[in-house]
Amino acid sequence: VRQMLPSKAEGDIIDSGSELFQSHLHPDGLPVLKKAKGHYWYPADGPRILDACGGAGVACLGHGRRDVIRAVNAQMESFTYASYAHFKSKPVQELSDWLIQSTDGKMEKAYIMCSGSEAMEAALKLTIEYFRWVGEPQRTNFIARHESYHGTTIGALSVSGHHTRRVPFHSLLSPSNFHHIPACNPYRQRLSPSETDTALVARQKAELEDVFARLGPSTVAAVVLEPVVGAALGCVPPVPGYLAAMKAVCQRHGALLIYDEVMCGMGRIGGRLHAWQRLGDEDGDDVAPDLQTVAKGFAGGYQPASALLVGGKVARVMGREGRVFTHGHTYQNHPVVAAAALQVQRAVKEEGLIWNVKLRGYLLGRLLKERLGQHPNVGDVRGKGLFWGIEFVKDKATKEPFEPDLKVAERVYIRAVRVFRVLVYHGQGCAGGGRGDHIMIMPAYNVSRKLVAKIVERVARAIEEIFREL
Ligand code: PMP
Repeated sequence: VRQMLPSKAEGDIIDSGSELFQSHLHPDGLPVLKKAKGHYWYPADGPRILDACGGAGVACLGHGRRDVIRAVNAQMESFTYASYAHFKSKPVQELSDWLIQSTDGKMEKAYIMCSGSEAMEAALKLTIEYFRWVGEPQRTNFIARHESYHGTTIGALSVSGHHTRRVPFHSLLSPSNFHHIPACNPYRQRLSPSETDTALVARQKAELEDVFARLGPSTVAAVVLEPVVGAALGCVPPVPGYLAAMKAVCQRHGALLIYDEVMCGMGRIGGRLHAWQRLGDEDGDDVAPDLQTVAKGFAGGYQPASALLVGGKVARVMGREGRVFTHGHTYQNHPVVAAAALQVQRAVKEEGLIWNVKLRGYLLGRLLKERLGQHPNVGDVRGKGLFWGIEFVKDKATKEPFEPDLKVAERVYIRAVRVFRVLVYHGQGCAGGGRGDHIMIMPAYNVSRKLVAKIVERVARAIEEIFREL
């Protein structure tokens, strides 16, 4: 165990006094980063920090990979920018073709962009445009989930349910087009411990049907969901059959199904590249969406990269009568972004990392459950692949969350990084109007068994310390 904690070689353990805690609550208090390499961040002051979350689940290959840096540099030497309105470029074409091919023939078009919010914004706008093209302009309603985060721009935030991120901007968010139902969260949504997965799915399907009925089924444009809920809940996979049920309702009423795989996609849950592929395989269902967004693990942080993937149903309509999507960003189809994403994806494939994510994911989940499952303030440990969340509760029996003002998840994150030198992602405040604390563990796909054990030990120590003090 001692080996798994920060050693003298890595620097002294830093004091966890209240002053440091205070400084971390404000961006001015953040450490200045000097370097990042492999699985570690190196701040200008103090010992290195083990990266157990890749920022916001971004750094899927770890930091400082020479192969990706070389690919980016090579592209910069040829040309650094190509306006998407005037030129095609080889890296963008290659990347788009590869991305389309990765979808088992379900997706037919790809747009390369720079952020998850941009891709989600584009997905919403393309949905509206699609229904205008097919003569159903009255389809302007979107149904998403309360526990969701889809981005920071106005459309993406409108479709998000994330309470604390929405509150300051209520005046800008459209209340009439965006509607929310509960996400599939077996820890909190089961009516009783004896409610089976099948019964839970049937109930949630009926909830969705009710919203369609209330709005008028022919006014609903799309249902939007994250196949595995990320920052809004902390790595919550759906129960078997859930995605197929949501898809069936959409198909019955002629609405589109949009998956936001910005965080959970591109190999993060292991086994397959896209989360819907693994979840569909496990359930034995075809749960492919009509539109899909990806980001984070797409270029692993080497460039700001995202994409919108367009399924056959929409793509075929776009192709007709010279229809063009009335949408574009200056930096869309950026060649350097594409060069980075291509090399990251090449490395992921050549090094068999999607498989590694699945294997190490089993280990990470098992160790977290063994080490923390019985802790009185750990309500739930859940996840898939290298995407695991720990939810904290005041009372394990009643699942009562902590008061938001206590900022329990933030305390754990600060203790973890300051004292145990491991970076985790913390979240608070999506479920139930700003209540609920969790941390997320999302190491790089090439993490070793030894490093997985180290992460678990350090995170567990931080959690134990915080709750002993509380
Ligand atoms: N969707 C999901 C599921 C996300 O997790 C995020 C970012 N955390 C976004 C969309 C928005 O992405 P970005 O911050 O790159 O705009």
